[in-house]
Amino acid sequence: MSVLPIVAVGHPILREPTRVISHDELQTPTVQKLIADMIETMRQADGAGIAANQVGSNLRIAVAEVRNNPRYPYKPPIPLTVFVNPVLTAVDDEVVEINEGCLSVPNLRGNVHRNVSVRVRYLDREGNNRDEIKRGLTAGTFQHECDHLDGRLFLDRVTDPGTFTTWEQFEQHHRAAFVERITEFVDRIGS
Ligand code: ZN
Repeated sequence: MSVLPIVAVGHPILREPTRVISHDELQTPTVQKLIADMIETMRQADGAGIAANQVGSNLRIAVAEVRNNPRYPYKPPIPLTVFVNPVLTAVDDEVVEINEGCLSVPNLRGNVHRNVSVRVRYLDREGNNRDEIKRGLTAGTFQHECDHLDGRLFLDRVTDPGTFTTWEQFEQHHRAAFVERITEFVDRIGS
């Protein structure tokens, strides 16, 4: 496994919808190595997830994992999940405002509205069909990664540019209030 370079906002591949892959293509050593490298890259960068186009591939593959993440200490754990060809739909209209960052958008965070409950259908790493409901901040992470695979960044969803903040300013001025609000939210919805 190797750590891959992460492309930053401005690279055209981040704006191109990724390509659905076949079951056979998923089994190839090339694609399985890409998945292993994406996992390694996400972990090395302390990301909660990473999409293939963030490491220069146009395949519809993303990975997510949260375990005591220093970038996002308030996020509930997410077991390592490889999601191939994901199709994401909202379960209802409930939304929550989440302060997000992105490995492809260095040193910037901003507030976006995310659905609280989403259904994600995808193939796992072995090609098995999965159909799962994700809730809360975990649902937010899956929406963020599926946005990447559609060529969208969290920047596009920030409705109030006044919420943009560097990570340092977030720590100083916004983190305490956000963590208090989002911790209450996580406790309430129980994910
Ligand atoms: Zn991102």
